[in-house]
Amino acid sequence: MIIHPELVMRLYNTLTQRVEELSFPSGEVKLYVCGVTPYDTSHLGHARVGVVYDTLRRYLESQGLRVRYVQNVTDIDEPLFERARRDGVDWRALGDQETKRYLASLARINVAKPEHYVLATSVIQQMQSTIARLLEAGHAYVSRGTVYYHAASFEHYGELAHADYPTLLSMANEMGNNPDDPGKRDPLDFVLWQPSQPDEPAWESPWGPGRPGWHIECSTMATEYLGPQVDIHGGGADLIFPHHACEIAQAEPATGVAPFVRCWMHTGLVALGGTKMSKSLGNMVFVDDILKHYSPDALRLAILSYPYAEPFEYSDERVAEAEQQVQLLHSALRTPSPASERHLDDDAPQSQFFHALDDNFDTPAAIGALAELAYTIIAAATEQNVTSAQRTLRKIGLVLGLQIEPASGV
Ligand SMILES: [Zn+2]
Repeated sequence: MIIHPELVMRLYNTLTQRVEELSFPSGEVKLYVCGVTPYDTSHLGHARVGVVYDTLRRYLESQGLRVRYVQNVTDIDEPLFERARRDGVDWRALGDQETKRYLASLARINVAKPEHYVLATSVIQQMQSTIARLLEAGHAYVSRGTVYYHAASFEHYGELAHADYPTLLSMANEMGNNPDDPGKRDPLDFVLWQPSQPDEPAWESPWGPGRPGWHIECSTMATEYLGPQVDIHGGGADLIFPHHACEIAQAEPATGVAPFVRCWMHTGLVALGGTKMSKSLGNMVFVDDILKHYSPDALRLAILSYPYAEPFEYSDERVAEAEQQVQLLHSALRTPSPASERHLDDDAPQSQFFHALDDNFDTPAAIGALAELAYTIIAAATEQNVTSAQRTLRKIGLVLGLQIEPASGV
């Protein structure tokens, strides 16, 4: 199905803070989205990221584009080691089990696995090559067995966050930065390679046995699988700084290509009762628990009923409302159509639907057009042939990743 292959999409870019026009003349879209550290992963914050970019992929594909979608799995990281220690299990077994559980939960709400779903442990060699290039180019230094990136060596460092140095430092510290690390030249410098703790995995390297830092994982994986420039780089808004700022600082000097990313697209955080949903606060809601009471389509619609960049306030009422919309779609698809010569014209809601997605991926407006078409079908079926409109309804529902199956053959 090709609707308009010359797609020009308007999308907000976190780097420029503007809605920009984005086209894909090669017919291909390179999409990289930061994935999870596999433990306690299927809470709604992660599910939202999964649903938003899975829907973006479906929408771009509906326009005849080929989407190369890469996502990482951080299967080596402190939080994973800490959890493995606490539970007395092997970090590999824990990571493997939680990755499977995460993918299974997301599959229930029709989130497909990205084309390349890459484990950090599978690109250790490539990360070492990038680190070696950054050392050669004078962006990194070795101190006390650790390789650090010198943030001040990259003139655009932190631009993605649009903040001054003290604000950047406090943001980094909140996200686990150690400003007092005696090996650092500057408190904002970050680790590229470090010695492992005795019970942590270690790989041989030119700087001694150890393991990579977190930031180097994503820029290495993105450039390894997609080349030096990515069209759309996604992730939760909490990754803008330092993680994504560090990715830019690593990728651009390592490849010599700028910008590393044409459009930075960030999803808003998920909150419960006005507070950010997080592991540390323990206020998490899990996909599998919600699906005990509501259908997968209802949860997917509830997530997409918020503008992707705004905070999503979870409530059962919100999913219950979405469940009513799912019922509406089912009713419209089940409505018997008279064998009339007069066919319901569905051009307007269909073009409204795609126009909404072209316009900064406005999923709430797209859902509005979907519901409008459903109402129109139910109202028109007293006298007009609605078979073709029902087909359209199903087709655009699939673009949002809904699994709506009509009861009778449409
Ligand atoms: Zn990442």
